[in-house]
Amino acid sequence: MKNEPPQELLRRIPAVDQLLLRPAIASWVESTGHEFIVAEIQRLLAEVRAAILSEDADAGTTPEQLEAALGARLGRRLRPGLGPVINASGVILHTNLGRAPLSDGARETLSAHSAGYTNLEYDLSEGKRSQRDKLIQPLLREVLGCEDAAVVNNNAAAVYLILDTLARGREVIVSRGELVEIGGSFRIPEIMARSGALLREVGTTNKTRIGDYESALNENTALLLKVHPSNYRMHGFTEKPALEALVDLARRRRVPLVEDIGSGCLVDLRPYGIADEPTVQASLSSGVDLISFSGDKLLGGPQAGIIAGARSLVEPIRKNPLMRTYRVDKLVYGALEATLGSYRFGRAAAEIPVVRMIAMTVEETRRRARRFARRLRPRLPGGAAVHLVEGESVVGGGSCPESALPSILVSLESEAVRPGLIESRLRSLDPPVIIRIEGDRALVDLRTVLPVQEKVLAESLLEVVSPGFEPAPGPQGG
Ligand SMILES: *Cc1c(COP(=O)(O)O)cnc(C)c1O
Repeated sequence: MKNEPPQELLRRIPAVDQLLLRPAIASWVESTGHEFIVAEIQRLLAEVRAAILSEDADAGTTPEQLEAALGARLGRRLRPGLGPVINASGVILHTNLGRAPLSDGARETLSAHSAGYTNLEYDLSEGKRSQRDKLIQPLLREVLGCEDAAVVNNNAAAVYLILDTLARGREVIVSRGELVEIGGSFRIPEIMARSGALLREVGTTNKTRIGDYESALNENTALLLKVHPSNYRMHGFTEKPALEALVDLARRRRVPLVEDIGSGCLVDLRPYGIADEPTVQASLSSGVDLISFSGDKLLGGPQAGIIAGARSLVEPIRKNPLMRTYRVDKLVYGALEATLGSYRFGRAAAEIPVVRMIAMTVEETRRRARRFARRLRPRLPGGAAVHLVEGESVVGGGSCPESALPSILVSLESEAVRPGLIESRLRSLDPPVIIRIEGDRALVDLRTVLPVQEKVLAESLLEVVSPGFEPAPGPQGG
């Protein structure tokens, strides 16, 4: 073939109509559309012609080769942009992987709410329009122990709305130790500047005392803001006032104390070895006037921002015209309501995947890893092996950076396939599998793998170390 003159090769290319008669291609026409497939064939043939003329590739011109090339092309083109992945990285709240997986209850609610109509803004007893915020309020008040609450699109929006509503043109006192960047360019000073609030920095990076807040207070102070440092911690020569001291100062000087608490932890995680995450309820009951947090971090629900606290502060935020630009839809309300329902009945550790993953003991991870390795071993190709190794999972998502969770991990080794190649091959599968490389080892952390995914995960690991591995047609393949 290689030595044939280009003109000869070009003549061999079949006509579009001839290709359309092939049963496989006809079935693709059925499942997509005639025009779409014809256009794809035309583009493919144009590429093949160009390859022949530039003589830089041996382009297949038989109908079989063209059908295969078209199949690969369609596989790439029709794969949805967003799809499920298996998270075997051990990072529980992996922001790049969509943070919290939802509970079964939330999933069922989503499917029930999505296909039809709901009473989102409809008062069923009056038969009139109502507010979407109203439906979930009693549950939020009950679970969080607050007077009032509002839900927006995410916590970044919540912080922005709080500042815009309560502090536009006035001063907000923040410790220099808390002027943090959360990631994704959410920087407290920049958000503050955009909202029109005036940042009044106090203290130093490592030490801020109650007296620093006190001497910065003046008649133009709108609020005291405390920011959870998220994935950043300071050690050594540091100091910050106790929350109680800030509450006391805010009361005495009659300014609201607002806390961006970040993660929205609703259960005490200390029994699971996590000491550096304050709960929402503890903050509110110690007297913080208003707090905001994410719905999809430790709370374990959908992406949302929750603003909770004194009615006198929540109500003006709800009335802010910008609220309309951050409102959430029926699906978010539904998933959030179902998630909060698990907390109401003390069933978070049983029902919320994020809490369940955190609560998993090292013994449980060992049992699971052992069972998984036992299932894999008899089927591994020659030169490949799995071993159990001690390691750590992390909460992630800017929560509890100090607290690693001891876990037993599965290390996949192969004489023929380097760890980096194992990792990238796993990423190319459908569904993609995300693992981590540590000290030149490919490590699988089952803590973040849902039990229903274990079987597919096992097949995926076997596949990427097998001698016959073929990269799937993906954006980089074909
Ligand atoms: C994560 C985080 C945010 C941003 O929350 P999103 O819900 O991701 O918008 C803001 N503040 C703190 C302290 C955080 O940890």
